[in-house]
Amino acid sequence: MAEVCACCEESVQWWVRLRSHPDLPICHNCLGGLNAQRDGQLQLASGQWIVTGFEPVFAVADVERAAAFYEQLGFETSRHDATYAFAHRDRDLTIHLAKTEGASLPGHGALYLHCQDADRVAEDWRSAGVTVAGPEDQDYGKREGSVTDPDGNLIRFGAPLRATPSDAGD
Ligand SMILES: [Zn+2]
Repeated sequence: MAEVCACCEESVQWWVRLRSHPDLPICHNCLGGLNAQRDGQLQLASGQWIVTGFEPVFAVADVERAAAFYEQLGFETSRHDATYAFAHRDRDLTIHLAKTEGASLPGHGALYLHCQDADRVAEDWRSAGVTVAGPEDQDYGKREGSVTDPDGNLIRFGAPLRATPSDAGD
């Protein structure tokens, strides 16, 4: 049965309740929004940037073949384009399936870190003497950079693209 979320006021099929206010259903989207608020507060309190999520990036020779395999395992898949797909399972697991290009080899994956401010991560790691690529704005709504460890393991990091002050005219 549908309920109206006390936070966004959308009619929703699934929700959680505050123990003290069981009459106030909170939808899963808004619960995620509350977690993002918590992450923002933790970041403020610690004075450090924090990792808000992380995902493996598997390098694959054939994206469709890889997606079909993960579907067989019971994952849901979604395609970004012919060279990039995602395999999702439950709330937190997303595996990126990235077609190899250039010098990258199938089976040699990467780690994707989600953060709130990619520039801050880059600045922090650069000031520690690490070589950082980017970050740069990407057409899929992320600002992303990367570092490579001494053995060649790639760590990509990205934050949601935010409107710059000059875009915020309306
Ligand atoms: Zn809601």
